[in-house]
Amino acid sequence: MAEQSITAERESELIESTPKRLYINGEWVDAQGGATLEVNDPSTGRLLCTVADASPRDGWNALKAAEAAQPGLAAMPPRERANILMRAFELMHERKDDLALLMTLEMGKPLSDAYGEVAYAAEFFRHFAEEATRISGSYQTAPAGGARFLVAKQPVGPTILITPWNFPLAMGTRKLGPAIAAGCTSVLKPAELTPLSMLALAEILHDAGLPAGAVNILVTSTAGKVMEPLIRSGIARKLSFTGSTEVGRKLLEQASERVLRTSMELGGNAGFVVFEDADIDAAVAGALLAKMRNTGEACTAANRIFVHRSVIDEFAAKLSAEMQKLPLGRGVEDGVRVGPLVDARQLEKVDALVTEAVDGGAKVLLGGQPVDRDGYFYPPTVLTDIPAGARMRQEEIFGPVAPLTAFDTEEEVISWINATEYGLVNYVYTENLRRGIRVAEAVESGMVGLNQGAVSNPAAPFGGIKESGLGREGGDTGIEEFLETKYIGIAM
Ligand code: NAP
Repeated sequence: MAEQSITAERESELIESTPKRLYINGEWVDAQGGATLEVNDPSTGRLLCTVADASPRDGWNALKAAEAAQPGLAAMPPRERANILMRAFELMHERKDDLALLMTLEMGKPLSDAYGEVAYAAEFFRHFAEEATRISGSYQTAPAGGARFLVAKQPVGPTILITPWNFPLAMGTRKLGPAIAAGCTSVLKPAELTPLSMLALAEILHDAGLPAGAVNILVTSTAGKVMEPLIRSGIARKLSFTGSTEVGRKLLEQASERVLRTSMELGGNAGFVVFEDADIDAAVAGALLAKMRNTGEACTAANRIFVHRSVIDEFAAKLSAEMQKLPLGRGVEDGVRVGPLVDARQLEKVDALVTEAVDGGAKVLLGGQPVDRDGYFYPPTVLTDIPAGARMRQEEIFGPVAPLTAFDTEEEVISWINATEYGLVNYVYTENLRRGIRVAEAVESGMVGLNQGAVSNPAAPFGGIKESGLGREGGDTGIEEFLETKYIGIAM
């Protein structure tokens, strides 16, 4: 919840006091040649500030710092690594007003969503602080006797972490938490559109006592040019990426050269199914959450909503009524629930997907046109009768658009849900437990929300199958992504 009334003065003071340089080897440094890039407020389209724009040379300095710090972090007692993460968790809560406002300013999300993200992001630090002290191995007698197997876990080594703009803080802590807990140093590159949250987080980690070089933050407008040589160098032993499937594919190819461990959290195309026996009000509330959280700019967003033909009219009317109530505006304004999209490109993409569906025969129940005001606003939109070939049934919409399609049978809806290369999450609403389990098992995704419209939780394994990714973040498997297994055979 927003806990402050925001004035223009408060906004500019916060921007003024936020670090704007690269964080390398525990110090704030300018980019080579003093290059900078612009950060804009998507709710006005206006410039917020400029920040250092790293060159390949800066990237190299960051990676060398991570390499040099690796033995020290790996040797640090797990309890000390845990204490640093706990201190960072506490500092995030102490500074939550600044972190939330900063995120709203650079990314556009409503303050209520930003506060939710700060709490979610901080929780990764607490979760992995607890995990840091529980890294264990095993000891076993060989089945034939005569030898013992000692199995130990060791940090993978320096890591490269790349994050997207839609959750500028949480996508960072979801990687940094397990990396630090496991004893891995890192070079983290946030999205060019939203670097400020991660720079503020670097300040928190610094204040929490993280050793120099353990985390390095590189902001750049030339991601490919700066990151590719680092990935191909083989100095980092792990690449963890969250972003689009298209970029993920490219990075997997680069990582293959030196056979890096990889984690890929990629795009989604979530199905949301409402059976005829569902609690319709609960399904509407779930759809609202799964669709409108972060103004629809989430990999977990309900992208294709399938409703049983016998209840689709009731569901559509109720969902439209709820979506219409959501106030739209600058995320910093009191009560706003729908912020701008992140930039003009995203707005054009959403508009094009809706226009194409409507031209093909979709019916507009709500919204359907960009909002005529400064910034990149698209209104809550509900569509029905989506043509089978519409692009929005295949591509991530990444906006506040709910496309509804009627279905008749369970088999039919399962086949529609699985007719995508993505497999991140699906949502199923039914009061019939057997059906719920049956459908949850049949849908091809790494996660399923059964009668709930949100699945993200730092203590649960988050991730996708098919072209939605590799590996899991969070849960008790999250730290494994940053650990190698070493088997020591002992002759007796
Ligand atoms: P994106 O374009 O793939 O960018 C993600 C990150 O990769 C950014 O930091 C970007 O930097 C960087 N990048 C782009 N090209 C690169 C290259 N050649 N080499 C190295 N880095 C490169 O994705 P996005 O538009 O920021 O984020 C939206 C996407 O993320 C959606 O597809 C969404 O589903 C996905 N996502 C997935 C999850 C998940 O957990 N599965 C969570 C959140 C988001 P620049 O900003 O400088 O381009």
